[in-house]
Amino acid sequence: MNHPTETTKYIFVTGGVTSSLGKGIISASLAKLLQARGYSVTIQKLDPYINIDPGTLNPYEHGECYVTVDGAETDLDLGHYERFLNVPTTQANNVTTGRIYQTVIEKERRGDYLGETVQVIPHITDEIKHRIKLLGENNQYDFVITEIGGTVGDIESLPYIESIRQLKWEMGPRCLVIHLTLVPYLAAAKELKTKPTQHSVKTMLEYGVQPDILVCRTERPLNEAIRNKIALFCNVDATSVIESIDTNSIYKVPILMKEEKLDLVALKKTRMAANCKPDLEKWEEFLFRLENPAKTVNIGLVGKYVELVDAYKSIIESLIHAGTSNDCKVNLKLIHSEEINRVNVKKHLEGLSGIVVAPGFGDRGIDGKIAAISYARRNKIPFFGICLGMQCAVVEFARNVLNLKKAHSTEMDPGTPDPVIDFMEEQKKINMKGGTMRLGAFPCVVNPGSKVHGIYGKELISERHRHRYEFNNTYLKLFNDNGFEASGFNPGTDLVEIMELKNHPWFVGVQFHPEYSSTVAQPHPLFVDFVRAAVDKAEKN
Ligand code: GLN
Repeated sequence: MNHPTETTKYIFVTGGVTSSLGKGIISASLAKLLQARGYSVTIQKLDPYINIDPGTLNPYEHGECYVTVDGAETDLDLGHYERFLNVPTTQANNVTTGRIYQTVIEKERRGDYLGETVQVIPHITDEIKHRIKLLGENNQYDFVITEIGGTVGDIESLPYIESIRQLKWEMGPRCLVIHLTLVPYLAAAKELKTKPTQHSVKTMLEYGVQPDILVCRTERPLNEAIRNKIALFCNVDATSVIESIDTNSIYKVPILMKEEKLDLVALKKTRMAANCKPDLEKWEEFLFRLENPAKTVNIGLVGKYVELVDAYKSIIESLIHAGTSNDCKVNLKLIHSEEINRVNVKKHLEGLSGIVVAPGFGDRGIDGKIAAISYARRNKIPFFGICLGMQCAVVEFARNVLNLKKAHSTEMDPGTPDPVIDFMEEQKKINMKGGTMRLGAFPCVVNPGSKVHGIYGKELISERHRHRYEFNNTYLKLFNDNGFEASGFNPGTDLVEIMELKNHPWFVGVQFHPEYSSTVAQPHPLFVDFVRAAVDKAEKN
């Protein structure tokens, strides 16, 4: 690299006024721009809640739980980081208050603080600072971007803001604070209003932190006068007031931020060179294809959390990537599994050229998923079953083809006479819920000659997991003999990882989660081929 990089720079992204302003996307977009200039960047999310990780959280509470290669159950923003940067994250990239306190309390019990009163300052803040600096160790990255969850002013985010204050004091210009706020448009007054931003910055100042850059989320462009007003009231220069206007795709945000020179201002303030232009050629090509699809295809996603799109974030984004690879816009219909039954299934799924059945836990909506799979199998509609979706496909086939009428997963029916999906042996001795599933990336050997082998173009793959139940190998021969074949296995345990149906244009179930590893730079091959098959199906109709 041709720029002087002595030490890692730390960029903090805080949020003001309201949640859901898109801190994760702003962080990922800035990271993308810095990466496109040749810098190495990682992004970390600090979440102020007390759960150790989001693995035990209901998706209604916090959206999808994203799983990293090393098996951490993390915040869904890490998915955005990976999709934008195409660089894997790890456990170190997501830390919660729960984990911070757990570490401090363990140290206290061990006697590490013997004699001292253990307090929020300095012990909790020291642990927070340690977790932030850990990523910058050995100058592994030029930039560590740390996104603080929640909104400034929340009681629970105080120790994080205090840690930023201390780090800024210790490291000076190696630290940069970007505050994301809202500039609302009041229709009655026909005006953009800066007061919420002023108040939010005031709250930061009360905590001793002066934001260096303000990113202002807005539905209307910020004019010169508004920028100057915000600059004046918030002690920043007008070039550090960055507009973040609403847009119809998260993937446009890096380009919008480039136009607003967010990267240049950040580089200047951290005293880093900006002597090359960001190379965004591939990104722009992706955007062009995204915006200029040659065709559209209707795909259904069947799940029980469809009211909340965040619950299926990675699947939805993977379908966007795959659509773009196929020069095709995926019209996604979200279908509530509880609303489908054998009688109305046709009404819900008619006109779809592909059906995805989502991952999940528990009994709710299972019958709807099974009815949807049956419809896809019988009508030769491309079907993609992910984790629980694959398990439901196994149950459907057992009941309707193998005639094992009461077959089920022991998760839903522990007394089933035909437990085609059963508790994994390694899970039997576990009784704690948090972080105890089969988690993270495991190898899988794909059978040569199988459909999936053709799609991946290789035999040894590695995919991420999050489950407790598995295909019951007692039934393996019966399934294989009847045309629903296991075509991928874990090499060490023989655990079935992939099932595919013969005599069907595209019917694949996977025990793993391919959606976690689809990125803009590398759309996941299974999603790409599934969308291709859906396009084929649409064209034949
Ligand atoms: N509930 C199922 C299991 O634990 C599926 C999990 C999932 O879909 N992620 O095996």
